[in-house]
Amino acid sequence: MAVFLVGGNAEAWCPFGGVEALYTYAREGNLVCSLGVSNFYILGGVLLSVLLLRRAFCGYVCPIGAISEWLQAAARRLRIRPRRVPYGLDRVLALLKYAVLGVILYFTWRAGELVFRGYDPCYALLSRHGEDITFWAYVVSGAILLISLFVKVPFCRWLCPLAAVFTPFSRVGLMRIKRNPDACTDCGACSRVCPMGIRVHTHANVTAARCTACLECVAVCPTRKRGALTWGLPRHLDRRGPLAVTSGPWPQAALIAIMLLCIGAAVAATYTFPLPSFVQTRGTAPATTATLYVNIEGVTCRGSANLLTYFLERDDDLEIPGYLKIEAWPGPGASAVHITYDPSQTTPEAIRNAIKQPYFDLVINQFRVSPFQITEP
Ligand code: SF4
Ligand code: SF4
Repeated sequence: MAVFLVGGNAEAWCPFGGVEALYTYAREGNLVCSLGVSNFYILGGVLLSVLLLRRAFCGYVCPIGAISEWLQAAARRLRIRPRRVPYGLDRVLALLKYAVLGVILYFTWRAGELVFRGYDPCYALLSRHGEDITFWAYVVSGAILLISLFVKVPFCRWLCPLAAVFTPFSRVGLMRIKRNPDACTDCGACSRVCPMGIRVHTHANVTAARCTACLECVAVCPTRKRGALTWGLPRHLDRRGPLAVTSGPWPQAALIAIMLLCIGAAVAATYTFPLPSFVQTRGTAPATTATLYVNIEGVTCRGSANLLTYFLERDDDLEIPGYLKIEAWPGPGASAVHITYDPSQTTPEAIRNAIKQPYFDLVINQFRVSPFQITEP
């Protein structure tokens, strides 16, 4: 949300963007314009956090989770009591998120574009309400917000496709809620308060993939001081109990610190190892190759990077037969571009000329004037 508020591209930091872009990047080596390799790094950092903390990302980082919690707080002020959804119905509705994930991935991977962006309630709520958002995105958002006043976190429980991605990782998550049957009075308060509909009081270990580590169950437990309910490592790793902590500021502080470490590592990796978001190769590389490092103005997204390859693969008298590969980091201003070539067949000067000079495109039967300006790195 902070990225959105300071005017940044929040989409480039969305872990679900990494899921959507994965197939196209692996197959074609490029990304749609609003996404970047930052999506892959943040996805990796978030999945690491899920392996450690289960779905704590949903409760502590995701803006939709935050909005849902604000609505619950508003509902309490309005004296609206949250409705309990029968356990069986809750489990059936929870399957919807896998269907949502399957449909989104099928059409997105097939088209190589974010075809559902215009219908995405998260994008509608957090973007700047551009023309690409359809009326239906607002209808879905409004319905989710309205239902959130009466039912706890309905989107996170039943519809979120990222939650479906989390499931196998969260299922084997390290930290968990543990119940000590000797101290527990079976009052059921923990189960009643759980926003994810988990029957906490029937488990010795809560290993449900949907636990968001909100610790609300620990907070309401009347015998938590006797250790009835704790959050920490699995019992076999926790014989001396160094991390068996109850409610209070420390467990959430520890949780938030681990979460920040995972996300901070992902952000640091994005800038330390900036993978190209546009890669295209031609032919087979010989034993000896060379690379031309340039900054080029006009390579702003996947479309203009594609146009640049037309100039590199031109077939007129400025043709560069030794051109082998382009790696680009499209963006505003001058973008870094690395061009690999066979030094026995061409020169850096020939490549620069091919990029700058107009050429006659036989396919569209007209001259293409180069929109690119080369500056040295
Ligand atoms: S209330 Fe307890 S079991 Fe339920 S999601 Fe929160 S931490 Fe997990
Ligand atoms: S709230 Fe505490 S005492 Fe009550 S059932 Fe849950 S773990 Fe047991």
